[in-house]
Amino acid sequence: MNYDAFFADALATLRDERRYRVFADLERLAGRFPHAIWHSPQGPRDVVMWCSNDYLGMGQHPKVIGAMVETATRMGAGAGGTRNIAGTNHPLVELERELADLHGKQAALLFTSGYVSNQTGISTIASLMPGCLILSDAWNHNSMIEGVRRSGCDKQIWRHNDIVHLEELLKAAPPEQPKLIVFESLYSMDGDIAPIEAICDLADRYGAMTYLDEVHAVGMYGPRGGGIAERDGVMARVDVIEGTLAKAFGCLGGYIAGSEAMVDAVRSYAPGFIFTTALPPPVCAAATAAIRHLKTSHWERERHQDRAGRVKAVLAAAGLPVMPNDTHIVPLFVGDAAKCKAASDMLLADHGIYIQPINYPTVPKGTERLRITPSPYHEDALIDTLAEALVDVWERLELPLHKRALAAE
Ligand SMILES: *Cc1c(COP(=O)(O)O)cnc(C)c1O
Repeated sequence: MNYDAFFADALATLRDERRYRVFADLERLAGRFPHAIWHSPQGPRDVVMWCSNDYLGMGQHPKVIGAMVETATRMGAGAGGTRNIAGTNHPLVELERELADLHGKQAALLFTSGYVSNQTGISTIASLMPGCLILSDAWNHNSMIEGVRRSGCDKQIWRHNDIVHLEELLKAAPPEQPKLIVFESLYSMDGDIAPIEAICDLADRYGAMTYLDEVHAVGMYGPRGGGIAERDGVMARVDVIEGTLAKAFGCLGGYIAGSEAMVDAVRSYAPGFIFTTALPPPVCAAATAAIRHLKTSHWERERHQDRAGRVKAVLAAAGLPVMPNDTHIVPLFVGDAAKCKAASDMLLADHGIYIQPINYPTVPKGTERLRITPSPYHEDALIDTLAEALVDVWERLELPLHKRALAAE
């Protein structure tokens, strides 16, 4: 049997559907973000990153790097085992306290990534409630879908951000049935925001528990970086808040925060928590430094919003199809998988600009896009250069530019 033929066939399918992914070989430069080196087939080249999820550049912040280096020097590189075997390293204990405080919850629990926190968090929470019904937003991230699937519970998918549909589904279920509503605060491909308060109202009315993924909002929204729920004054009404340390906090790791009992139960029952090595102490210390910094520093959040606003305005003025939203995400509509990939390739090869194409299955077919994420460190000149490069690529690919329609806005 030629086993490799199976893999080659699977890859051919992806290539036919123009979904085969190629990763750029990049080298980030601490202190020079968003500048990076691209190890191109022709050798190293300077490029500017325009799609990093290190939204605030905290991955290169001197306090964060300092905490990581200092802790590694003092405690070493790895955690030395699962928490069950090796005990909990002190920096991890401090990090969990910091996270519980960030969200105003009794407790927090750390996982190896945001992906794992959703996958094992949702499945464990739901499976501990007999006969639980999970109500999941249609646009939820793959990690949440996996969590729902693994729970083995009944599920209902509600139309994205549609609280009328959510209420219909809640109403149709028996009042005594335990219910878990899982959703995100900020959906990262369109940059739209969930009606958290209205969802919490429904949860109260129908006796449901709420689980909110704030991965694309922690650090960036709310007076202390607690996320959209903090900004909207509804953090206390959400039962479980899930977040990542890998995006605005610039490190690695995921977590849930909530009641003492819920967190202790997940700690005690979740396989994806119990049977895997804890995060390294230097990573925990670095994340704590980032969270602490962003609890009191507003500069990054304000400058981030300012930059996002400016990118949207400059690109729209150039006639580029910016998909409107009220957040820091700047999606540019392409609507064609091959052209989306070609646009990304041309930006990198001809303009030294790195923006990864967003194709199916991350977004629905026909809505392929470039997803631009400005940071506090994208200066005006970089924004102007970006607009010129995009117009050039749009013209060469014969993609539509809408000068008049947008100028009227
Ligand atoms: C990135 C992402 C995750 C996973 O977080 P990681 O820390 O990168 O594993 C979870 N939920 C959403 C909505 C995400 O975009």
